[in-house]
Amino acid sequence: MSTRILRGGEKVGNLYRFKCPNCGFEKEYRDGGGFFTKEYYDESKKLSSEFKSNIENGKYGLILKAMALADEKGELYYDCDTHLYQCTSCYALNVYRGKRVYRNGICNLTPKFDSNYELSAEIEQYCPVCSKGKIKRVDTQRVICPECKNELLNMLLHGKWD
Ligand SMILES: [Zn+2]
Ligand SMILES: [Zn+2]
Repeated sequence: MSTRILRGGEKVGNLYRFKCPNCGFEKEYRDGGGFFTKEYYDESKKLSSEFKSNIENGKYGLILKAMALADEKGELYYDCDTHLYQCTSCYALNVYRGKRVYRNGICNLTPKFDSNYELSAEIEQYCPVCSKGKIKRVDTQRVICPECKNELLNMLLHGKWD
């Protein structure tokens, strides 16, 4: 899974529409940058800089702290954008802001001469609905119905926003 960074940090977002073959649950979700508004952008920037300071202060452990402090050239990207997640315990399906750190692929040993960022770390987050389970970024082929919890949802639509 990679985040496409377009010019000036602008991103492509996803649009998903799911339907449950069992109970009829149907819902559309949008994540990422397709619905970029100034508020969304400002909030992302604010959260990203808070996330960076928390990492540098050691909130997420020594390894990440060392990685952040060693990043003198600013090659790390602190991603707090919205993505679709599902709880591993209550199966709540929602769009949340993630906490991921990417290293610019161009600076890696296996250079990718495009604008992709390689995933370096993701902070695990608890589900705000049940606060027991952890939320995992959705693999769109295997989304469990949040209503009846015993069927995989059919993806009716998957689009891109930019
Ligand atoms: Zn939950
Ligand atoms: Zn269902």
